[in-house]
Amino acid sequence: MASASERRKVVRAACPHDCPDTCAMLVTVEDGRAVDVRGDPEHPFTRGGLCVKVNNYEQRVYSPERLLYPLKRSGPKGSGQFERIGWHEAMDTIRRRWTEIIDQFGATAILPYSYLGTEGILNGLNVGDAFFNKLGATISERTFCDSGSCTAYFMTIGPSPGMDPESFKHSKYIILWACNTISTNLHHWPFIAEAKNKGAKLVVIDPFKTRTAREADWHIPIRPGADAALALGLMNVIIGEDLVDHDYVQNYTTGFDELKERVSAYPPEMVAKITGIPAQDIRTLAREYATIQPSVIRIGVAIERHANGGQTVRAAACLPALVGAWRRVGGGMLQLPIWAFPVKWENLMRPDWIKPGTRVLNQWRLGPALTGEEPLDPPIKSLFVYNSNPAIVVPEQEKIIQGLKREDIFTVVSEQFLTDTARYADIVLPATTQLEQFDLMFSWGHLYLSLNQPAIAPLGESVSNTELFRRLARTMGFDERQWQRSDEEMAVDALDWANPALQGITMDLLKEKGWARLNVGTPETYAPHANGNFLTPSGKCEFKASMAAGGNFVLPLFRQGSNEFQAGEPVDPLPTYVLPNESLATNARLAAKYPLNIISPKSHAFLNSSYGNLPGQLHHAGEQFVLVNPKDALARNVGEGSPVRIFNDRGSFEAIAKVSSDVMPGVVVAPLGYWRSLSRTGATVNALNPSAFADLGRAPTFSDTLVEVAIAESAIAAE
Ligand code: SF4
Repeated sequence: MASASERRKVVRAACPHDCPDTCAMLVTVEDGRAVDVRGDPEHPFTRGGLCVKVNNYEQRVYSPERLLYPLKRSGPKGSGQFERIGWHEAMDTIRRRWTEIIDQFGATAILPYSYLGTEGILNGLNVGDAFFNKLGATISERTFCDSGSCTAYFMTIGPSPGMDPESFKHSKYIILWACNTISTNLHHWPFIAEAKNKGAKLVVIDPFKTRTAREADWHIPIRPGADAALALGLMNVIIGEDLVDHDYVQNYTTGFDELKERVSAYPPEMVAKITGIPAQDIRTLAREYATIQPSVIRIGVAIERHANGGQTVRAAACLPALVGAWRRVGGGMLQLPIWAFPVKWENLMRPDWIKPGTRVLNQWRLGPALTGEEPLDPPIKSLFVYNSNPAIVVPEQEKIIQGLKREDIFTVVSEQFLTDTARYADIVLPATTQLEQFDLMFSWGHLYLSLNQPAIAPLGESVSNTELFRRLARTMGFDERQWQRSDEEMAVDALDWANPALQGITMDLLKEKGWARLNVGTPETYAPHANGNFLTPSGKCEFKASMAAGGNFVLPLFRQGSNEFQAGEPVDPLPTYVLPNESLATNARLAAKYPLNIISPKSHAFLNSSYGNLPGQLHHAGEQFVLVNPKDALARNVGEGSPVRIFNDRGSFEAIAKVSSDVMPGVVVAPLGYWRSLSRTGATVNALNPSAFADLGRAPTFSDTLVEVAIAESAIAAE
């Protein structure tokens, strides 16, 4: 009989979610069942805490709603009617249907659709790329998040990790720009709080008073989409008042004279009209930021979500070099420290298997692609969804639903739960959770590599994504070594272990400890650009971007490794401000009809659409709400708690109004992540958002959306 210690074990794991924190977790297992999931207190960044989303992760794992067996549809699409089948039948059906489609239309009639439902290096963004590249399917361009920021950042600074998030404790002036740290990057907060306790000033720039903005010394509300104008205005003051670090600019930047001329067109009074920020505040912010060193800017992913998003990041990324903030530990900019991890992307994606000229389809265009509004030759005849829930997270929701309803599109969804997308599948495949799978985890919020070891056996017949693609490869007759490797062999192949950043880090060490800090210096010493060393073509911070000569681009990481970029749209080499797509200045008629700008930030309780179905998180989040400024509410007879309809020409959804001066007049806020199937009218905020691209990296334009708010008809009828 096994002893108590043999029956009970603690397994080292890491949170799988699309969140910068990648928390180290300790999973207690008794008799093969996970009974407790908590943070690892020894992890220097995540320090033992898990957020409200994950601190009862075992409830997600053992939820009675989990999908545990393959299913085939037995009722109309969307009805949620399925019957259990075996893996053999599921794979055989997929092989048969895909073979028919390929014979009749070619392999590009098959569209893979995925993102970061799981973030692991093995099971995450790129897990299916090699398979679909081998199959010859349409290449899926996945620019959900940070694609525009990355393009802009690469053009200005290069693929640099930027500032160590732990070094924020040494900062004296911190700007969180479009970043709600407490809700979406929680474990960074103690480092900011430490700096604050030592006297640092915390400034939050955000259209509404987030949980983080409440803790700031100075919250600066800004109109959505006006951030580039603010950055240009700050540079106008810094240069105009000679607060520039001339030595740093002289030695480590390019294009200062052109930048100076460009920003001369953005005096504070003019920027005040665009941003809604008083001119004197713009001057004060510029002076403080330039003179209180070390200063740091942390940009959040929301900064790119409007027509001018890419150039906004370009402008913000010029600021630290202009004032020499990079010189000191605790100064500079933080975008994605992910670039410190030496991942061999090509081993994950196998771009060498892409046939020249293979079609690329951007994921924003899913609705028009499925409905046929966007003519495609061949048309999409099969959709394979994993790590994503497009019915909720993609704009033009109604078109996506119409497309998912089509009987002539064979849809397969691999999922943990019957999501709003999975309800429309022909075949549903059960996916493991993080406790049931092996993975190697990078982070886009700190500098620690983590190993997630499986704590329990897969529940039911669920399989990890790595195993899913092994099975699909076998089914389709692919016999390359790519699909013969164990997960651990894949982990070894996924990283450049000879890279200095991994010196001293081994799989054995990761198995024993769970995580290891990359060898990039310590938070007390790390100042990556104290002496320039930018990773741009010139080796300098490029105010005038030489890469702009090649036109707009999307990193291959976001497009299954494909380097072909069809558009080649010209790009202004200098940071610039461009009006939003939807505004009074660009479309007065639209703005008269829909005078409110909606933004849809991540919810505190959900992780995109994950957890939007689970009772604990739903209880925490409450019913879908929309924040409305008192002036806007009064003008519409909307009171606190009124059921309201939010609408534009693309669609509508209903929510409960929260009337609050936390949001500026003219702006309404509706958090993302609620499920259609659990909503009042079968629609959520992405029913309203457009599928237009931002200026760089084909980023989304969620925040570039005009709407109107009115009392819901159901409430009027009830009166
Ligand atoms: S979602 Fe983020 S903060 Fe929450 S446990 Fe996971 S990594 Fe940590």
